[in-house]
Amino acid sequence: MINITIWNESGHKGRAYPEGMNAALASIFQDKARFNVDCALLGDEAQGFPGERLEHTDVLFWWGHSKHEKVSDELSERICARVREGMGAVFLHSAHFSKPFRSLMGTTCSLSWREAPGECERIWITNPYHPVARGITNGFRLDREEMYGEYFDIPKPDDVVFTGWFTGGEVFRSGCAFERGKGRIFYFQPGHESFPIYRDENIRSIILNAALWAARADEGLVDFVPDGSCPHVRVSPEPIRAWSLRRIRLKK
Ligand code: ZN
Repeated sequence: MINITIWNESGHKGRAYPEGMNAALASIFQDKARFNVDCALLGDEAQGFPGERLEHTDVLFWWGHSKHEKVSDELSERICARVREGMGAVFLHSAHFSKPFRSLMGTTCSLSWREAPGECERIWITNPYHPVARGITNGFRLDREEMYGEYFDIPKPDDVVFTGWFTGGEVFRSGCAFERGKGRIFYFQPGHESFPIYRDENIRSIILNAALWAARADEGLVDFVPDGSCPHVRVSPEPIRAWSLRRIRLKK
């Protein structure tokens, strides 16, 4: 049994997630024989970690955006210590700026960003051998997403599993794997609260894979077999639709 705690700084019950973002994320882990899921909010008792919840967590999912400074230093330090002891941690979207993530990275974790109408993202797999990439469609498209661009000030990741491309031409290391002590850490960029990103099937598979990988339960997850005849594969990707580029131009 893998104990998962999904933490969010607020409920985000809006158009994208009428049931709340935590519930949308929790619905990814429907295998009750395999997963035990707890949801927590910053406003809950002990900032979401009453009793021994943190000690019993195998994989922590963390979503934060505008309330990072409200998280106590003490809780952040406890999370970092748990990661070094072996707890998995998956930092979603703007959790790049959360206290525990910045502390685990040791850098500013700053990046460039823009919210523009009609902007889409395509996610490219840059390490198909990594367990988190299992079963994912290369180059899948999110019709709307906030742009996060380089330079992303993180230490060199152990793996860059996904790279995002945005309509404006920016690129971003969207899926990065790290280890700190005995713990595995995954940072995954998609997930702006205005768009129903966590309903996308590829995104849900990545989050499921990330939980298994971070819990060290990913044996057998690597099934990528390269085309042995030639590493140069001719591809015909879906073209980028002109409308999204045009809309950005009109906006300026
Ligand atoms: Zn955002």
